[in-house]
Amino acid sequence: MRAVVFEKWHTFPSLTDIERPKPGPGEVLLKVAGAGACHSDVALYKDFEEGAPGSIPPAFVLGHENSGWVEELGEGVTGVEVGGAYLVYGPVGCGRCKACSRGQDTYCENAAEMPYLGMGLGRDGGMAEYMVAPVRNLVPLGDADPVAAAPLSDAALTPYHAIKNSLPNLAGGGKYALVIGLGGLGQMAVQILKALTGATVIATDMKEDAMKRAEAAGAVVVPGGDGQVERIREITGGRGVDAAFDFVGAGPTIKTAAASMAPQSRFTVVGIAGGTFEWSFFTTPYESTVTNTYWGTIEDLHEVVAMYRAGQIKPEVELYSMDNALEAYRKLEAGELTGRAVVVPHMA
Ligand code: NAD
Ligand code: ZN
Repeated sequence: MRAVVFEKWHTFPSLTDIERPKPGPGEVLLKVAGAGACHSDVALYKDFEEGAPGSIPPAFVLGHENSGWVEELGEGVTGVEVGGAYLVYGPVGCGRCKACSRGQDTYCENAAEMPYLGMGLGRDGGMAEYMVAPVRNLVPLGDADPVAAAPLSDAALTPYHAIKNSLPNLAGGGKYALVIGLGGLGQMAVQILKALTGATVIATDMKEDAMKRAEAAGAVVVPGGDGQVERIREITGGRGVDAAFDFVGAGPTIKTAAASMAPQSRFTVVGIAGGTFEWSFFTTPYESTVTNTYWGTIEDLHEVVAMYRAGQIKPEVELYSMDNALEAYRKLEAGELTGRAVVVPHMA
């Protein structure tokens, strides 16, 4: 079968032929419906130095944002339907520690001893015709379209988790949220904030078309450049935003968000561009929090699917056949996408 493989450090992935995997005990084989291309993949194959935090040694099949139809059950698997459509929760922890027990494999206490972080992250992922996943990682999609749903498992799950942690800051009237970086994750963040809160959503990106799409989803857009923080403050009546989300994570975006915070607000850095931030007592307003989040929980993913099925959120997707899978990554790197790129290995 064909697969997109991260083969060597600092090297663009290749489209190669590999053997179709077999499900082990407790696992299922999925016929892949959709595999989203995430900017974190670019960090993996292009940016990260070997051994640096976040780096994962090659080789493995990329794709940590997947959906598919169950094709075959491994030994001992019950309770899932062959032919049924499922979303794949990507992280794989030890399954026994406190974090894994609450469905938060991302913060597995035994991660250091695990041979991989998840599907498409050290273990073969979904940028292939077929993939194997532990049955515990399947979230049913019912009759919802699995191709368009693929981005839910990262592009929606990650902002959902960050936003859920910020809900206390956004509860009540007259609240403001700031979203920086309106790509795959940022566009979903705007939709999720509109669905879950009454906050005014302020959004920004370097790209005009990305801001237009956020505006159509109900955000107030503030272009970058000189005076951006002043304009954000003006919208909030001078007070600043109650919750900020940075889906870039570069020095300048972290600085913009930090300078836009209200007292007792929460700023979550989600993007992994590696920007740094110097802090002292007077840097941020009183009792404000600067934090980070990594992906989300299995429970969160069930909630994200419920929102999708209720029509509250809808990823905008650009579909690519397996033949064009590498073009999806080229466009992602070049910032030329206008929706989440989803590779559809079995395109009709
Ligand atoms: P993407 O390429 O789809 O979108 C990035 C967007 O940011 C683009 O629209 C781009 O124009 C914009 N941008 C870039 N630099 C900017 C700047 N200086 N100011 C304003 N806008 C800017 O990427 P994505 O797949 O949505 O991922 C976003 C980030 O989140 C990446 O760093 C990715 O690695 C990271 N990520 C983190 C997690 C996590 O769990 N923490 C999970 C998934 C992705
Ligand atoms: Zn664990």
